[in-house]
Amino acid sequence: MYFQPTTLDQAVQDAQTERVRILAGGTDFYPMQGDRLPDVPILDVTRVDGMAGVTRTTDGWRIGGATCWSDLIRADLPPAFDGLKAAAKEVGSVQIQNAGTVAGNLCNASPAADSVPPLLTLDAQVELTSTSGKRLMPLADFLLGVRKTALRQGEILTAVHVPDVRAGHSAFRKLGSRKYLVISIAMVAVLIEVQSGKICKARVAVGACSPVAQRLPALESDLCGQGKVAGLVTPDHLSTLTPIDDVRGSASYRLEVLAPMIEQAITGCLEQP
Ligand SMILES: Cc1cc2nc3c(=O)[nH]c(=O)nc-3n(C[C@H](O)[C@H](O)[C@H](O)COP(=O)(O)OP(=O)(O)OC[C@H]3O[C@@H](n4cnc5c(N)ncnc54)[C@H](O)[C@@H]3O)c2cc1C
Repeated sequence: MYFQPTTLDQAVQDAQTERVRILAGGTDFYPMQGDRLPDVPILDVTRVDGMAGVTRTTDGWRIGGATCWSDLIRADLPPAFDGLKAAAKEVGSVQIQNAGTVAGNLCNASPAADSVPPLLTLDAQVELTSTSGKRLMPLADFLLGVRKTALRQGEILTAVHVPDVRAGHSAFRKLGSRKYLVISIAMVAVLIEVQSGKICKARVAVGACSPVAQRLPALESDLCGQGKVAGLVTPDHLSTLTPIDDVRGSASYRLEVLAPMIEQAITGCLEQP
């Protein structure tokens, strides 16, 4: 069975179908299927009216639940979104960016999902819709673990909401074994506000170094009041991270690269006019 609704009302009704699997770009779903055909009903949300695109709201920004990476890259957004756009440009290849969606990246809940650190620095919330209505939840609460989210059966991630962010510069750094088509060994997103040459607000998130990407609140607080960051990131600041050894890199390598990655990302923001 394959549903391709064009209205949200129809989509939430279709989402009640037993064992239904919601699908957007399919760039995570189909590779995981291997050469097996799907054995569950598929609900394709890419044609649902109003689900794709980035729009201004009264209190921030709305990234629709079927917005692909390329739409995000082209959207007219303030500099605080530069980190998220930089992440988007490094997801797979242009073909993947044209099909894959931000929502799919979140719902797939990979520790190496590139959208998560920048969206954490933007204090993003997810909007989950079902026949019972809509609920909003901070992204940090939505992601529960490796491939685990708070999404209930029958719910669709209909949008990602970002509260108003007028000030600040942001950056994203991804370390992989090559430049393109690469899964992150480690990644860093920062959002920095500066007043009179000193950092007055800092948000720092790290991905691929714990089951779910994390903000680093102790570092964020120590950054405030600083004008330079060289040598500022200490092992204590990274103590909540639990990187693993895998084919892409060892845990100790991941921890070692983080401090320079974070410092470079922040320095890039400080150099912005
Ligand atoms: C060659 C290649 C390179 C890649 N490179 C990267 C990379 O560099 N960085 C990276 O982070 N990822 C990468 N990916 C993974 C993938 O492209 C991204 O995670 C993408 O954003 C997934 O979006 P999608 O729309 O294709 O998700 P889908 O495959 O359609 O869905 C993924 C999961 O989310 C669920 N889902 C999708 N949309 C919704 C919704 N609106 N509501 C509820 N559930 C939903 C699906 O049921 C499924 O479980 C790559 C994949 C490939 C094939």
